[in-house]
Amino acid sequence: MIDNSYETSRQRMVEEQLVARGIHDRLTLEAMLKVPRHLFIDDALRTRAYGDYPLPIAAGQTISQPYIVALMTQALGLTGDERVLEIGTGSGYQAAVLSRMCQRVYTVERVNQLLASARKVFDKLCYYNIVAKFDDGTMGWRQEAPYDAIIITAGGPEIPPPLVDQLVDGGRLIIPVGGQELQELQLITKTTEGIVIDRLEKVRFVDLIGKHGWAN
Ligand code: SAH
Repeated sequence: MIDNSYETSRQRMVEEQLVARGIHDRLTLEAMLKVPRHLFIDDALRTRAYGDYPLPIAAGQTISQPYIVALMTQALGLTGDERVLEIGTGSGYQAAVLSRMCQRVYTVERVNQLLASARKVFDKLCYYNIVAKFDDGTMGWRQEAPYDAIIITAGGPEIPPPLVDQLVDGGRLIIPVGGQELQELQLITKTTEGIVIDRLEKVRFVDLIGKHGWAN
């Protein structure tokens, strides 16, 4: 059985942290109203699950602040029938939000422990349209490409070229790019003439580690 006692906290999160700050995409707001964020974090932190901040998860990683999840999700402009690639499964929360707004989510994680616990939650919540694998996500997931949208939830020094290759024409990719202390969210649109970059907010993410990321 799924615990509904956090519904009020979720409603407040959506109104006070998302709508109040200009998140307007209906699918994003509906998904975040529904996904039980508290099930993606450690029991000891559950009372803080809907707070306006990131929280620690295992392996020294973090689950992003709800507002940043919403901002990145909204930027992808999903309508319901897309195939979306996520790099950095972490807790699985972002993938769960996406899974309610598109056809299928492909998510890649480089820490086995995180992958295993995220998969358990996906099963528990019956999010059967999420497929997750262990790999260096900076190389993408070539067998399942191309993707309509790609979201990278760790900060890297550059936009990994394999990810742009694996995006459809007209597709969108969002990634925090910059140094290890501070990055900016870049929204990339792939066109037949090349890529267009929109710069959104300054953010602080954990490291994207891999061939086209930071060294381990
Ligand atoms: N989307 C996650 C955020 C997790 S933090 C959530 O909703 O909880 C970022 C995650 O990216 C970490 O789990 C980290 O291990 C992972 N990561 C970093 N570099 C990666 C890479 N090259 N490939 C796959 N995952 C990576």
